[in-house]
Amino acid sequence: MADRPADKSPRTASGDPASGLSIVVPVYNEAPGLAHLHARLVEVARRLTSERGLAVEIVYVDDGSRDGTGQIAAGLPADAVDVQAITLSRNFGKEAALLAGLDHARFGAILFMDGDGQHPPALIETLVARWLDDGYDVVYTAKAHRENESWARRKLVHGFYWLINLGARQKIPEDAGDFRLLSPRAVAALRQLPERTRFFKGLASWIGYRQVRVDYEPAPRAHGQTTWDLRGLVGLSIDGLTAFSVAPLRVASVLGFVFAIVALLFGVQILIETLLFGGNVAGYPSLIVSAMVIGSVQLIMIGVLGEYIGKVLAELKGRPNYFVSERSLNTASAEAKPKTPARIKK
Ligand code: UDP
Ligand code: MG
Repeated sequence: MADRPADKSPRTASGDPASGLSIVVPVYNEAPGLAHLHARLVEVARRLTSERGLAVEIVYVDDGSRDGTGQIAAGLPADAVDVQAITLSRNFGKEAALLAGLDHARFGAILFMDGDGQHPPALIETLVARWLDDGYDVVYTAKAHRENESWARRKLVHGFYWLINLGARQKIPEDAGDFRLLSPRAVAALRQLPERTRFFKGLASWIGYRQVRVDYEPAPRAHGQTTWDLRGLVGLSIDGLTAFSVAPLRVASVLGFVFAIVALLFGVQILIETLLFGGNVAGYPSLIVSAMVIGSVQLIMIGVLGEYIGKVLAELKGRPNYFVSERSLNTASAEAKPKTPARIKK
């Protein structure tokens, strides 16, 4: 029975909300391209419903946009799919928007994708096939290559993943993006993780289950420009690292150890020189250099410690990651759709 084909028993059940698919799209100032993206998503959703009997909803999480993205999302037509529009009370950042989507999705499986057109809707069916036909729980996408990025950026990204995966049992795959599909049990697992400092890529990998990678070529942004600048990326990397891994603290211990050995060897050398050869050890330069090296390493490591203490403080305060100011649900099944979508009381 070694080469038994994968279990193809239908895991779809139209009408059963637990087994539908929620597509969560965080949007921040994406007004110009939203209607076009929605049309493409609806087209894919319609095929998923007709070919696989999969109920589909799209959840737009407006992360405090200032260009009316929220109102546009709330007014998008719900043909073939349900449309939820959730507006956060201010800009909380993409991680918080993803969490809001996770909290509000009504169907069992969730697919997360960007709202700027970089994650091709055409790939959704491939991801769904990996989930339904091949039985994978986490289908994540990765950039097929990074040739359009600078050498320095690629090296930095590489270093980041090396550090975050240092000694980790479940490695976070390099290049994996936030475009991914989670099966109902993976979604349930993700919902059980209580931490406030969220690093979605890391968490989705950490939960385990059957994970598979799908390569794709990111499209250019449909309009506008990326919200990430160097500062933002460095901030996200530090947050991701310290929220996820204690590797930086280990680096501190290892550095301390290395310096201790170097100091010991140096001390032995001085001792031998003085005792055996009666030499006069030159003091000034070596003193200054070692004081500076030790001083700066200590300051850096206090900073690293501070990052962890900051995380502990944030978890301790236990503030919500976001607040919802508006929420609307436009259901496809309603025969006469209301002109203004129903407001849901939270
Ligand atoms: N985004 C968000 N909140 C933010 C910044 C970005 O919800 O504070 C959304 C944005 O609308 C887009 C996705 O997150 O749908 C990815 O953002 P962006 O394209 O700027 O990032 P990049 O693709 O460059 O990584
Ligand atoms: Mg983008």
